[in-house]
Amino acid sequence: MFENLSERLSGVFDKLTSQGSLSEDDVKTALREVRVALLEADVSLPVARDFVKAVQERATGQAVTKSVTPGQQVVKIVHDELVNVLKGDTEDTELLKVDNPPAPILMVGLQGGGKTTTTAKLAKRLKEKQGKRVLMASLDVYRPAAMHQLEVLGQQIGVDTLPIVAGQKPADIAKRAKQQASMGGYDVYMLDTAGRLSIDDELMAEVEAVRDVTNPRETLLVVDGLTGQDAVNTAENFNDRIGISGVILTRMDGDGRGGAALSMRAVTGKPIKYVGLGEKMDAIEEFTPDRIAGRILGMGDIVALVEKAQETIEAEQAERMMKRFTKGQFNMNDMKMQLEQMLKMGGMEGLMGMMPGMGKMAKQVKDSGFEDKTIKRQIALIQSMTKRERANPALLQASRKKRIAKGAGLEVSELNKLLKMHRQMADMMKKMGKMGKGGMLKQAMK
Ligand code: GDP
Repeated sequence: MFENLSERLSGVFDKLTSQGSLSEDDVKTALREVRVALLEADVSLPVARDFVKAVQERATGQAVTKSVTPGQQVVKIVHDELVNVLKGDTEDTELLKVDNPPAPILMVGLQGGGKTTTTAKLAKRLKEKQGKRVLMASLDVYRPAAMHQLEVLGQQIGVDTLPIVAGQKPADIAKRAKQQASMGGYDVYMLDTAGRLSIDDELMAEVEAVRDVTNPRETLLVVDGLTGQDAVNTAENFNDRIGISGVILTRMDGDGRGGAALSMRAVTGKPIKYVGLGEKMDAIEEFTPDRIAGRILGMGDIVALVEKAQETIEAEQAERMMKRFTKGQFNMNDMKMQLEQMLKMGGMEGLMGMMPGMGKMAKQVKDSGFEDKTIKRQIALIQSMTKRERANPALLQASRKKRIAKGAGLEVSELNKLLKMHRQMADMMKKMGKMGKGGMLKQAMK
């Protein structure tokens, strides 16, 4: 599906992962090559640029994980970023919406893109995988051969087609399909519209008319994936005029450049729902960003390895911390980490707002003036402590307190407030730890 891109990328990453350590320049060079590879695969320029930028930012900020090489870590970041561009912000790539029978599905696209074939492929899937009763109708009034083609495919896969009546307009055929679908107890009816060689007003007006009489649950654009950037432009055009709910990329079995798959979501905001992988009726697959990213990169082993290493480290860290907390060993370094975490999550207020039942407390926090500003001052106070003081806050007597407050440019009273809060938090951690061990938390979960 993505042979060329895949080969290029594995060339780049083979070099990277074989090195024990990486300089910033190594990563930069590699990412430049990634960008070229993406552009050559016909990924749109802004998408390629944003992609590389996102990877670079994440690679710079990432803590080094022991037990995997930096190059392997970069591969994982690239993988995650691929999933991001393929998926977009929402999760609506899943199955077609075909509730409320009879659910209309409108198939649109240019001529020769694979619309009729895909209509039949989808009908077969709906029938076999979801047990749906499907009716297909061809609205291609200009090409009797196309109508006939759908009929033949229908017979082949055992799906009914709407009887052909000569001389009807597409919108009227759509109405007839709707009626027949209701009366005949069908779950889904699929409308295979006429295509044109290029986008024109007449075609769009015709599809609009069909859309308006049927109010489709899904409007799927079928485009030839081999046409790269053109496929993305076509999708934008159809989406602007008709409004589409998803895209199906055909001919992804060819070893074309495949860049359309990567640009589609970012440019049009619409998910790719399926990919066509051949002429046979079973040659269609759901588009799953994870799996596709894996195929493009061809480095599933490395991705899994890094994931495992990261999980292990996080789990170990969390466990070590929890152990210390339950023994009451909650020191100023821990406190600083918690405060920083709070800042990241939008302050105490934001944190409380996220927890169920804490909304009221969030307001109290706000009223008490416990805001970002205060948190930053507290962090400054901790930074003004020596290493020993941070590890053991019990050391803090009057003279030390004065020095610390002065170092942070603040009053001792503020340091006292921080210390009081620290004690309360340490107490709370200790209690929470006990609850977790066999007390209330476990009881509640039963
Ligand atoms: P339409 O004009 O958009 O309805 O296009 P058709 O459904 O008639 O398809 C045009 C040609 O493309 C036919 O020969 C199909 O068999 C072929 N085709 C459709 N989808 C695919 C696909 O995913 N892979 C390949 N290799 N061929 C396909």
